[in-house]
Amino acid sequence: MTTFNDFGLHADINRALAAKDYTQPTPIQLQAIPVLKQGRDLCGIAQTGTGKTAAFSLPSIHHLLTYPHTANPRSCRMLVLSPTRELAAQIAQSCRDYGRFTKLRVSTVFGGVPINKQIRDLAQGVDILVATPGRLLDLIDQRALRMDDVEIFVLDEADQMMDMGFIHSLRRVAKLLPSRRQNLFFSATMPKEIAGLADQFLNDPVTVSVTPQATTAEKIRQFSTFVEQKEKQALLTAVIGREDIDRALIFTRTKHGADRVVRHLAGAKIKAMAIHGNKSQAQRTQALQAFRSGEIKLLVATDIAARGIDVSGVSHVINFEIPNVPEQYVHRIGRTARAGAEGKAISFIAPDERTYMRDIERVTRTKSEPMPLPENFSELVRNLPKPVQPPRDTGSKGRNPQRQREEALAGRGEGQRHGGQPRGDRGPRRDGPATDGQPQRKRRFRPRNKSVGAHKGAVKRVG
Ligand code: AMP
Repeated sequence: MTTFNDFGLHADINRALAAKDYTQPTPIQLQAIPVLKQGRDLCGIAQTGTGKTAAFSLPSIHHLLTYPHTANPRSCRMLVLSPTRELAAQIAQSCRDYGRFTKLRVSTVFGGVPINKQIRDLAQGVDILVATPGRLLDLIDQRALRMDDVEIFVLDEADQMMDMGFIHSLRRVAKLLPSRRQNLFFSATMPKEIAGLADQFLNDPVTVSVTPQATTAEKIRQFSTFVEQKEKQALLTAVIGREDIDRALIFTRTKHGADRVVRHLAGAKIKAMAIHGNKSQAQRTQALQAFRSGEIKLLVATDIAARGIDVSGVSHVINFEIPNVPEQYVHRIGRTARAGAEGKAISFIAPDERTYMRDIERVTRTKSEPMPLPENFSELVRNLPKPVQPPRDTGSKGRNPQRQREEALAGRGEGQRHGGQPRGDRGPRRDGPATDGQPQRKRRFRPRNKSVGAHKGAVKRVG
């Protein structure tokens, strides 16, 4: 049986692995570490949760320690590109953990936070830089960072990068990288377009694959309930009350939808938080932290915000809305049943989502078990508590041009895949007020103060 010691990694790395209690390499680590140590390029088909971060960072750290030299100012020796800030932060943390007995400098840069601190951090140069593409290019444009010294380039979650519309940014980065470098390319799926992208980056790569494409994890029990869209909130409240939930991820298709679910749950005195691209970085970190620590059991998320997040102990995934791309469903439900644990996926299927579910069942070659509506369901619908009102500042990105740029780069909307399909073909949008079962509130003009007329010059009467 191969252990980490058999890889011949630098002693400081082995110490860090022992400190983390890693004994057995995962399949992707077994396949990737030896070839990466030889300096080969690698194309890895693997999702988060397989141990791919260690698979690419351990041999890279080994290389950086074996050929030590101080990074030049405004440069990095290893560059890791990640589609989301959460994943970038997670990768950087793993690199810090694996390099904790070394002097390697690890930095993270992503949008949504002030750029100046990042510029200062990079001034001296860093060994490992983990970045999202938009902010990376901004730093390059501001001459805070150069790409000439990159020895190892890692592109993580390539399929999601494409989904988010980062393709042009990636091409730009590719042109700036030095030609002599080692390339690592990871993607959860490898459709033709991603394979084409991989070709552009990789040179005679070794391919390793640890997840069969679009198959559903075996340990997940899948259930589905047919329900009207406007009655989903009542069903959610009932399911939460009935199920024995350790941690549940609830997926919506839109950011507004996610916020609305949280407000409805709050109305029913059920604590939940939302995570999506309209939240500030601080709010996203806080929600994730609360979910990880167990302070909240329910996290409502859009697909893009949730991908790449590694939280153990997710007992349930609830598809409040059904994704129109089967692979997205596989990614969603793959958040549960991690590390050998059993998990449950429950899908709420509105009439216009039945075709999506049929596609999913065809692609995954599975059939979910029917879960009937609760007996007293119409009563539950009637008595559903009102949602709490949205706070005035929901942490939206406001006028932060940097954020807007990253969002613009991220394409036409979170949780939507741009498979070249025009929006009109993707079925109804669900973020309109008319579709969530709440009657649309009319805007009525109401004078602010009874004693004051709306006209200029009116006098307020006090006391
Ligand atoms: P990743 O797919 O890289 O996000 O890793 C998923 C989780 O598995 C992380 O929490 C890692 O810390 C953990 N992990 C990675 N490799 C190992 C290993 N060989 N033994 C135990 N845990 C691991």
